[in-house]
Amino acid sequence: MAVKQDLRTPIVSVMGHVDHGKTTLLDRIRGSTVAEGEAGAITQHIGATEVPIDIIVNKCGNPDLRNKFIVPGLLFIDTPGHHAFTSLRSRGGSLADLAIVIIDINEGFMPQTIESLQILKRFKTPFVVVANKIDRIHGWEAQKNAPFIVSYNKQADNVKAELDRKFYEIVGELYEAGFNSERHDRVSDFQRNIGIIPISAMTGEGIPDVLMVLLGLAQRFLEGNLHYNANGPGVGTVLEVKEEKGLGTTIDVILYDGTLKKGDMIVVGSLGKPIQTKVRALLKPRPLSEIKAEEKFKQVQSVTAAIGVKISAPNLDSALAGSPVRVVTPENIDAISDEIQNEIEDVQIDTDAMGITIKADTIGSLEALVNELKKEEIPIRKASVGDVSQRDIVEIAAIEDPFYKVIIGFNVKVLPDAKEKLQDSDIRSFMSDIIYRLIDDYEDWAKEQKE
Ligand code: GDP
Ligand code: MG
Repeated sequence: MAVKQDLRTPIVSVMGHVDHGKTTLLDRIRGSTVAEGEAGAITQHIGATEVPIDIIVNKCGNPDLRNKFIVPGLLFIDTPGHHAFTSLRSRGGSLADLAIVIIDINEGFMPQTIESLQILKRFKTPFVVVANKIDRIHGWEAQKNAPFIVSYNKQADNVKAELDRKFYEIVGELYEAGFNSERHDRVSDFQRNIGIIPISAMTGEGIPDVLMVLLGLAQRFLEGNLHYNANGPGVGTVLEVKEEKGLGTTIDVILYDGTLKKGDMIVVGSLGKPIQTKVRALLKPRPLSEIKAEEKFKQVQSVTAAIGVKISAPNLDSALAGSPVRVVTPENIDAISDEIQNEIEDVQIDTDAMGITIKADTIGSLEALVNELKKEEIPIRKASVGDVSQRDIVEIAAIEDPFYKVIIGFNVKVLPDAKEKLQDSDIRSFMSDIIYRLIDDYEDWAKEQKE
């Protein structure tokens, strides 16, 4: 079976708690192949890295596998810092076709690990867990870039035992989170069991396994979802809104369907009315070989999914991370603008007549927060994207029920003029970049008040 032309590259996101090794893992996937003189084959996108199938099967040491797989490669999203998973949405689903949840094997589950799993469960995204930093297990003898089992078999018995012990703690924690799991090489049915791959992003041990398991998951679960229309209008998701010197505000977009061209009319989601604008330039990172060139980016005329690209266009200041981007025609521009506006407003709803007020930095994170609060049956009066403003405070101050005189903010700031008003008020505020902490803190506080 050869690569079918009508299947696009699956999009893979790397999720997990801060410092558990997301960036290092992506660097390793990129870097080790560069070291092998294959730099030209890995394509660095804006916000993403594409690894073609040939490289993957070579890295796995078995080029014959080439004919077994139907996807053209894997596109790894470099999830921007604190935005973590929350801007990775598309049409109410997940932008990522597959995910890696990375866990520091020496530290185990942390709040953002649980958060990642909740989101994957909600979107039914197939994923694999990697238990990272095995090289830090006492006595570990690193075997650079080796498949896990090769490296494991070379360790002393007490080192193996220590790895197994830490490993089964993760199996236990996953079980408590509602997932059956097993070491990846022992999983026979990935539909029923989550595979856990012990790796070191530092030494490269287990990386070939990660690539193979991802291809396997893509093959088994995604074929039906990866059909796309390369010649159709471009559809994507805003990963990040960024100021660039000389360009003004730009958006970094993951295109997951169709083609986007310079000069296209596009509609982009924003906090108010969707932005209607025209693509001034499409930008990709300059290859390392051209590093002496003055500009950071290189212009291209058109891009086809799946790909990461920077869009320069007028009026992007109010663009919203996590919102849709769509190529439009004069005939459908208004209809599509309405669709996008509805999609964003569906999340920013006045849910209950009375309840708490919540704010978050992206629609994806707002959606996640709304979901978790609903699970706990905490009523929400208003949910919206953006920093806490003076208007928010004035509205909440008018609420009489002390249980609802509350604002919860995820990854947002309190604007300067709102800060003073908030301090002078009897409004209770909870701010954090961890959803669980916000909910726990609120519930603890509410319980205390009732007593
Ligand atoms: P992120 O916050 O999830 O992106 O985590 P980073 O990739 O930035 O890693 C956090 C720290 O852990 C850095 O100092 C890395 O060098 C280190 N680190 C990541 N992976 C490994 C690993 O496999 N082994 C060891 N020893 N350190 C690692
Ligand atoms: Mg990082």
